Amino acid sequence: MKYISTRGNYGRVDSAEAIRLGMVPKGGLFVPEIVPELSLKEILSFKDFDYRQLAARILQEFLTDFTEEEIWQCVEAAYNAENFAAPDIAPLKKLDENTYILELWHGPTAAFKDMALQLMPHLLTRAIEKGDIDKEVVILVATSGDTGKAALEGFKDVDGVRIIVFYPEEGVSKIQEAQMVTTGGYNTEVVAVKGNFDDCQNSVKSVFGDRKFNQKINNNGFRFSSANSINWGRLVPQIIYYFKAYLDLVNRGEIEGGEEINVTVPTGNFGNILAGYYASRMGLPVKKFICASNENKILTDFINTGKYDLEREFRRTISPSMDILISSNLERFLFSVTGQDHKKINKWYAELRNNGKFVVDKTTAGEIAEIFSGRFATEGDTKETIKDIYEEYAYTIDPHTAVGVSAYRKYCKETKDLTKTVIDSTASPFKFGRAVLSALKGKKIGGDDFEVLRQLEAETGENAHRALSDLEERPVRHERACSSRDIRDEIRDILEIN
Ligand SMILES: *Cc1c(COP(=O)(O)O)cnc(C)c1O
Repeated sequence: MKYISTRGNYGRVDSAEAIRLGMVPKGGLFVPEIVPELSLKEILSFKDFDYRQLAARILQEFLTDFTEEEIWQCVEAAYNAENFAAPDIAPLKKLDENTYILELWHGPTAAFKDMALQLMPHLLTRAIEKGDIDKEVVILVATSGDTGKAALEGFKDVDGVRIIVFYPEEGVSKIQEAQMVTTGGYNTEVVAVKGNFDDCQNSVKSVFGDRKFNQKINNNGFRFSSANSINWGRLVPQIIYYFKAYLDLVNRGEIEGGEEINVTVPTGNFGNILAGYYASRMGLPVKKFICASNENKILTDFINTGKYDLEREFRRTISPSMDILISSNLERFLFSVTGQDHKKINKWYAELRNNGKFVVDKTTAGEIAEIFSGRFATEGDTKETIKDIYEEYAYTIDPHTAVGVSAYRKYCKETKDLTKTVIDSTASPFKFGRAVLSALKGKKIGGDDFEVLRQLEAETGENAHRALSDLEERPVRHERACSSRDIRDEIRDILEIN
């Protein structure tokens, strides 16, 4: 299995090299040249596998340059009881006759990024060992909150790798910030960047693309890599839980083997939903993906009109991990639905860079509409959904998950499509406790974040996720801050380069 660039500007590489590089050096993203296909019979033959066995089986399809043993070591180091507070890693909860919630937040940081970031650092260290690299790898991460902590947890104390996380000063919750700045590990650094997530992500991206700066870094014995969801090593682990959810439904007699399901994903950078799409391309029976956005509904508009248009106000919402206007992984999806037409990708992304928008052709728009449906939730919808679900089912959901549920409900109302649906739940409600409690009570909630956490525990009778309950006592270990323009200086300072 080889990997190619969405922009047609790089040679074919194996998966270890794609994971080492993170992003294609001249711009563009690595994608599998051919998505492996599994027959239904084969998929159903996995139904007695536990999460680790299933993970190893799926990874083996994509990481053909890794040995079975290497894959198994990575999987065992990631998906175990120490890291995940649920025995089956990603439990599927039945909400009602048609709706199932896939809880992806039982990992060490209480959000779904752990599903990939507990595994990815192990894949990366194996990938580094396979290459002849004499440089220390420096992982740069731009985070809207959850990725940062998940990456820090995944990489801390992993030898031969350093990690520097940049987060937008105004774009993350107090709890997210506390999680990051209290991280231990000898190889971790955290920097607050002035501005919003797009500013932060763009400046980190520009560092990757800055040849002169990279040369300087290389000369000093370092090499950059990324753990953002553009790294193939982040995407591939996310394919696993779509198979897990489907097989759970079959095993519990909720669906027949082979029956199509729908999948709803609260979406930001388009990584999670793209992994689901790859699962369907592999043969998993999925009828529709419902792409759920918050008020930053650029993807809803794109799916409905074929026009991707950045000219709009950036909004800060109670689902901050989805406050994103540039959904990086969309490029991979477009490459796939155009039959790997890198000319089109280059044209559209040049238009996006130059004019802030692009419009796909009718055929492509049709292909997209065939498999995707876009819906969005307003802030009001999101709060109402948290309250409704709590009142109807005594089940507490976080604002990101609520965006998904709200979008799904709109979809059902408009299409009358009653296909059984898995909704990805991407964060523990306690991670966004203030917004959740405020939605439940119908009023603003004062007090500090940790006080709110205890109030939410009292209100719901549930215990906060173990990753959050002892945060308050941990000492702050990181106090760096800079403007997005000064990121290079900050990196030099951290790596002690003149
Ligand atoms: C990252 C994140 C999302 C968005 O996922 P993408 O893969 O970026 O689309 C949604 N919810 C939460 C809680 C997240 O952390």
